[in-house]
Amino acid sequence: MTERIRELDDATVAQIAAGEVVERPASVVKELVENSLDAGASSVDVTVASGGTDRVVVADDGRGMTGEDLERAVRQHTTSKLGDASDLDGVATLGFRGEALYTIGSVSRMTVTTRPRDAGDSGWRLTVDHGETGDLQPAGRPAGTTVEVTDLFAETPARRKYLKRDATEFAHVNRAVTRYALANPGVAVSLTHDGREVFATTGTGDVRDAALAVYGREVAQSLREVEASPEGSVERVHGYVSDPETTRATREYLATFVNGRSVRDAVLREAVLDGYGGQLANDRYPFAVLFVDCEGVDANVHPRKMEVRFEAEDRVKRAVEGAVRDALLDSGLVRSRAPRG
Ligand code: ADP
Ligand code: MG
Repeated sequence: MTERIRELDDATVAQIAAGEVVERPASVVKELVENSLDAGASSVDVTVASGGTDRVVVADDGRGMTGEDLERAVRQHTTSKLGDASDLDGVATLGFRGEALYTIGSVSRMTVTTRPRDAGDSGWRLTVDHGETGDLQPAGRPAGTTVEVTDLFAETPARRKYLKRDATEFAHVNRAVTRYALANPGVAVSLTHDGREVFATTGTGDVRDAALAVYGREVAQSLREVEASPEGSVERVHGYVSDPETTRATREYLATFVNGRSVRDAVLREAVLDGYGGQLANDRYPFAVLFVDCEGVDANVHPRKMEVRFEAEDRVKRAVEGAVRDALLDSGLVRSRAPRG
């Protein structure tokens, strides 16, 4: 007897695909915050319960959706965004467009409440319960969108089992929201966990204000401004690094961004550390919020992370190291200029 090849039903396919995209509450938070930023929000409020395992709510004052848009948005392969896949800014975190709301709705109970900015339309609410889309309901609210996600992985126990302790899941959420807050200082971003406000930036547009809100006064005061415009493919290196005394035992606070996107990259991290010219104690890492504007970047966008490869890696490394060193030198925090290659 020959084996039969069976077709999986849509719901099963969606749940398998979801595992690639939605690994944990922080993945939900990332996708929803990206959507809020894409919608031109000036404020984004993230509220989670039990590390996000019980509840994730992301509320924005962005452009919102009409009822028709909303019904379309939760379907598969629907997007209102056009982007050039070769452009780093044009790539969704998912690596493909129009999947986030659909995917999240297939592995949770997701309620979207939205109202478009343009007058004339009222608000609407729609719930997707593990792939089952309910009826569109009228709902009053100011312009913007709120997405609430509960019962994450309730029908996929194998996934649910993979979730870590609430504190660990919250650490992932916190790291993601922190990076968006630092990368978007013009947007007021807040994070609340189990009823306690963790931070709230004010959206002044100044990275230092965002760092003050996120990391506190001691760290904010230790920050030195980095500003360099090297020639060649690296157009600009700018942001802030802490003085060599203000460090932590983890690399976590070394936030690097390439063309506006948060990137965890060993080359950039090493370059920042080298900029301290041996002034850091062993196994201590500074705070950094460093933006690299650069051509010749290959982005490999995986649902769960973004990696980059620089065409001129040595040049990028030298540019970042030099920019950090100059910033610390200018404030007398490191002693000598490194030889430039
Ligand atoms: P993508 O972001 O790749 O387009 P999503 O599934 O994340 O795919 O979202 C689908 C669509 O829903 C978006 O293209 C956008 O039109 C709409 N949308 C989602 N979230 C928001 C939001 N917070 N505000 C306004 N529109 C939104
Ligand atoms: Mg999206």
